[in-house]
Amino acid sequence: MKFLLVGAGISNIALARKMAEAGNSVVVIDQRAELGGNCYDFWDQNGIDIHKYGTHIFHTENEEVWKFLSQFTQWYPYQHEVKALIDGQLVPVPFNFNSIEQLFPQKMAQSLIEALLNEFPFNKKVPILKLRESKDKDLQFLAEYVYEKVFLHYTVKQWGVKPEDLDPLVTGRVPVFVGRDNRYFQAKYQGIPLHGYTAMFEKMLDHPNIEVRLNTPFDKSMLKDFDHCFFTGAIDEFFDYQYGELPYRSLKFDFLTFDRPYFQSNSVVNYPCNYDFTRIGEYKYFLGTQSNSTVVSYEYPEPFVLGKNERYYPIINEENKALYAKYLALADKLENVTFLGRLGDYKYYDMDQAVGRVLKLAENFTA
Ligand code: UDP
Repeated sequence: MKFLLVGAGISNIALARKMAEAGNSVVVIDQRAELGGNCYDFWDQNGIDIHKYGTHIFHTENEEVWKFLSQFTQWYPYQHEVKALIDGQLVPVPFNFNSIEQLFPQKMAQSLIEALLNEFPFNKKVPILKLRESKDKDLQFLAEYVYEKVFLHYTVKQWGVKPEDLDPLVTGRVPVFVGRDNRYFQAKYQGIPLHGYTAMFEKMLDHPNIEVRLNTPFDKSMLKDFDHCFFTGAIDEFFDYQYGELPYRSLKFDFLTFDRPYFQSNSVVNYPCNYDFTRIGEYKYFLGTQSNSTVVSYEYPEPFVLGKNERYYPIINEENKALYAKYLALADKLENVTFLGRLGDYKYYDMDQAVGRVLKLAENFTA
């Protein structure tokens, strides 16, 4: 079969590989000049791997996904840790026992930890919105503190709304951790592609059945030359916004180079309550690069405005899910087009979920 894959992000790159290996002929197009969508990275003059669209850390529990990608890259065994500036101190986030001990007097910290352990299993995660429902007085205090200092202002900056006005899964991504593990993710497999994401993508696309055309915008007239199209652009755009625009959040990055080995204590520092940016990423940490200078990005959330900036995050709430469902109904009527990826499915996928979706999808088409 002859397939047109619109959008050269992680979803369609994985799909291109699977489809090509199954003997299909695949053309991947993207309007951008670069591969990888928002996962694109490049090496700067100091040998630092810069993630152009913000820090990307690969993590998964899905062995199939890990094994699939590992055919195309080796991994630097990076384990992600984040600190947040709270009441003038840099404390671990997800908020955990170590954060509690750093911020509160010893006796108080001890009783807060005991209260957590009384109500929740050790070494497990509790979403902040769930912790807020606790009837225990100590936990109510802790929940309000964490809600205010970690989540409320960060979420308003990031999304323009309060945590409770988003799908609980959004803030649930960064729960309170009932234990001492400072890592952002506990997944079995974590890492950064040793030669960068773009190099991994180039390898995935290096197959005689795959042709890549960059700087090539999609046009519906292209469809007639293919048996099927896999579309990872925005589903509302495909249908000419006939029910209105699906809302997104965007980001603006200020990249700065400092003429010294390190800028901050670890790769990502969150600023929930201070400043207009949400976090600062320092890229050399991801691959343990040694250099005399360092590159950081200040990350400023902003609304997505068509034609002005890029889509980063679908805004998942009831209203937007209902609007997406209307577009999905239109999509279901099209036999020769399948929608996928963050913009095609209107889902807040992590990289591994995007690849997992593709591995399942490819089974249907190759069986
Ligand atoms: N979040 C927060 N404070 C933090 C970290 C995260 O309020 O210090 C909330 C915020 O709403 C954010 C969401 O949790 O958008 C998910 O965070 P994550 O770090 O997973 O976002 P991503 O890396 O995907 O942008």
